[in-house]
Amino acid sequence: MKELQEIVGASHVLVDPDLRAPYETDWTGRFTGRAACVVRPATTGEVAAVVAACAKAGTAIVVQGGNTGLVGGAVPGGGEVLLSLARLRDLDPVDRLESQVTAGAGVTLETLQEHARAAGLDFGVDLAARSAATVGGLVATNAGGIRVLRYGSMRSQVTGIEAVLADGSVVSRLTGLAKDNTGYDLPQLLCGSEGTLAVVTKVRLRLVPLLTARTVALVAVAGTEAALDLLAAARDRLPALSAAEIFYADGLSLVRAHAGLAAPFPDDHPAYVVLECAARVDPTDDVLEMLSGCDAVADATVASDAAGRARLWAYRETHTEAINAAGVPVKLDVSVPLAEFPSLVARLPATVTDVAPAARTVLFGHVNEGNMHVNVLDAGDRAEAVSDAVLTLVAAHRGSISSEHGVGRAKVPWLALSRSAAEIDAMRRIKAGLDPAGLLNPGVLLPPGSPRG
Ligand SMILES: Cc1cc2nc3c(=O)[nH]c(=O)nc-3n(C[C@H](O)[C@H](O)[C@H](O)COP(=O)(O)OP(=O)(O)OC[C@H]3O[C@@H](n4cnc5c(N)ncnc54)[C@H](O)[C@@H]3O)c2cc1C
Repeated sequence: MKELQEIVGASHVLVDPDLRAPYETDWTGRFTGRAACVVRPATTGEVAAVVAACAKAGTAIVVQGGNTGLVGGAVPGGGEVLLSLARLRDLDPVDRLESQVTAGAGVTLETLQEHARAAGLDFGVDLAARSAATVGGLVATNAGGIRVLRYGSMRSQVTGIEAVLADGSVVSRLTGLAKDNTGYDLPQLLCGSEGTLAVVTKVRLRLVPLLTARTVALVAVAGTEAALDLLAAARDRLPALSAAEIFYADGLSLVRAHAGLAAPFPDDHPAYVVLECAARVDPTDDVLEMLSGCDAVADATVASDAAGRARLWAYRETHTEAINAAGVPVKLDVSVPLAEFPSLVARLPATVTDVAPAARTVLFGHVNEGNMHVNVLDAGDRAEAVSDAVLTLVAAHRGSISSEHGVGRAKVPWLALSRSAAEIDAMRRIKAGLDPAGLLNPGVLLPPGSPRG
């Protein structure tokens, strides 16, 4: 403890239970654990010294950014040193020639977006936790969000990384060369590694053009099949399409009650799709033309001004918050091929009530990627049974048990539904190579085994 205090300063080693508490429980309130202490370094050098001290003492570390992760990967399993990267907030000037920027791991997504926009560019990833989610966490989870359709997930934005390995050594590759075939791609390996291979301290990020002409459509449809017909029409006819999100009638009711929002349409409908187009010239006419020619549209409302767009997005983006306000949910984030999407959606509610009769299932997601967020409220003591039933159903639909949130602690028992024994073995060998003592995020991502999972 004394050594850690000497490295970061006594005020940045939190041992008091009240000070530790906000770091020890996750955003959903479902995952909680006790940390030996919370350490808050401010520089890469301090991170390296803390990690080296823990390695010398054989003390495990749990890595945390904004603590908005939804699979329990950033909270302690019990007794680890919790390493918070939130103070690594350096943000270099935007490199306009390369359209890139270097950001500290603790920079929030919102700060990064504002920084890029002030320089006439934009950042390709966006998600509702933008005010708290950090660059390091986004990389470690390979976060997706609402713009994957256009720009890909986090790994597509990463051109370089600086990270501290489990022994405290620093690897740095921040030049961001567009072409660089000189061996293993460590930055890409760290994308989606969930803090199990290294501690990310800085990231070199690709930026995208700033598109200020935006149009959002909220479209009512008869169900999931109709939503896919609408998506096909939008992909076909709208080259500026940048988001396509789905939610359902029960989710809308929950959101409206939570946020006091007006009904978007005179009538209720089974499902709703949010489409957004972004371009340099106003895409509204193209959106209206596509909507008027698409039989799947039951009703639609369109906005191109900032306030109107935010009003329509709120119906979708308030879902996570409204669900959390209704109770501690079992949150599952899955994806299936689009051809399987309607069947998955149709079977999910009964799959859940078969094992947890009192439970309610609220679905919403990123329809373009066949990514459904399955939120189960009132599961009581049946949380594990619900996860098992839903993830088994997803595997039977040729899907992934984690589309974008990661495996964390929540989904470790089910990893083998999405990854073969040979793949898990290869992952273990990578882990053993970079973290032979199993000190980084034990219990996260990999099932127990050797080194400590
Ligand atoms: C309202 C809401 C909406 C969300 N929407 C989306 C969405 O649309 N798409 C999506 O993908 N996710 C979404 N999320 C989940 C979450 O925001 C992302 O997973 C995000 O990437 C987590 O970032 P964080 O900084 O909060 O990471 P944390 O929660 O602190 O950590 C997440 C994981 O990354 C590891 N980690 C964190 N920082 C580092 C680092 N510097 N080095 C190494 N490992 C690290 C942690 O150990 C943990 O395993 C949402 C969450 C909320 C609350």
